[in-house]
Amino acid sequence: MAAEMTVDITKTFPSGFTLRARLAISLGPSTVLILFGPSGSGKTTILRCLAGLERPEEGRIRFISRTWFDAEQAIDVPPQERGVGYMSQDYSLFPTYSVAGNIGFGLGGLTADEKQRRVAESLTLLKLQGLEQLTPSQLSGGQQQRVALARAIARHPQLLLLDEPLSALDTPTRLRLQGELRHLLKHLAIPSIVVTHDWGEALALGDQMAVIGAGRVLQVGTPQEVFNRPNGEEVARIVGIETALQGRVRESVEGLATVEVAGVILHALAGDEVGPDVFVCIRAEDVVLAHGSAGTTSARNQLRGSVVDISSMGALVKVGLDCGFPLSAIVTRSAVEDLHLSLGMPLTASIKAGAVHLVPRRDAAFTA
Ligand code: ATP
Repeated sequence: MAAEMTVDITKTFPSGFTLRARLAISLGPSTVLILFGPSGSGKTTILRCLAGLERPEEGRIRFISRTWFDAEQAIDVPPQERGVGYMSQDYSLFPTYSVAGNIGFGLGGLTADEKQRRVAESLTLLKLQGLEQLTPSQLSGGQQQRVALARAIARHPQLLLLDEPLSALDTPTRLRLQGELRHLLKHLAIPSIVVTHDWGEALALGDQMAVIGAGRVLQVGTPQEVFNRPNGEEVARIVGIETALQGRVRESVEGLATVEVAGVILHALAGDEVGPDVFVCIRAEDVVLAHGSAGTTSARNQLRGSVVDISSMGALVKVGLDCGFPLSAIVTRSAVEDLHLSLGMPLTASIKAGAVHLVPRRDAAFTA
């Protein structure tokens, strides 16, 4: 059954930053909602308000049929009674507690047997068996992340709140754990809200995405919808990716992948970990437009298309093309004049293989 969540809160910090977040969303049993936005936009504050760790000045928060917070009615349900699992950006593990001690923390209300059962269950789910007695300093970054997740899920929460769960990890570990985290979140069948400012992570993990800018919720939709159709300049600037398409890797040889998108073949630089199901992401500024063949360009991808949209973005112009799939380009005003751009005009779009980014769509199994 879907969990309805409504958030309408205001909070001001002494620094002058004001959060005015409004969001009404229906979360399915394993829906992953991404809070996406730049540093300082208010993502963590929203998560902390949901967890009950931060108190808004005004407004209300409802989850399923329960009011967690209502300023007018003086309702403020304490964090431990909200049924949420919260994982902070720095994991907040207790340095002197063992792995098992960290996971069991917060299960105080349970019998010793039940507590032990929950700890064992979380250790198994996160593939942490054998590490029970170690302390956090004896673990790798990826293992610490798993302990923090294990602690968040051990309480059998109704909602998981994860603040930049992968940001403390090095890039190869982060990419590997992205797929594993997605798999785990789907397997747990608990709705989750995940904060990130990494668009690859948003696409790899998210079912829904809310873009946060300057303390406000600017757009909500599937990550693909939001990346492809930002609802305004502010969101377009925040997300930075204007084309995100579902594709399938046909071949990958020595770091060069051949990908099919809606029957069109594209070439992309890719690591071994990618494929076969991917999101193909292209920044609009990496698309070069020309008449006829692009001639001398070294770009591997030369796509024939026609202009379907021309819209002004101040000093720049966004051009929408139909290349068998929708593709956006950003060009200068002088380029628009030089090319005599008009709707319906046939053009060639050139994109270097290095500018075609592949984000895995597959669900990876957990590996130790
Ligand atoms: P990041 O991606 O860098 O974690 P964020 O989008 O999560 O950023 P928040 O951490 O929610 O942003 O911070 C939003 C704003 O609120 C920032 O200007 C921050 O300085 C301010 N802020 C957050 N917490 C506090 C606090 N406890 N006291 C004072 N100001 C705060």
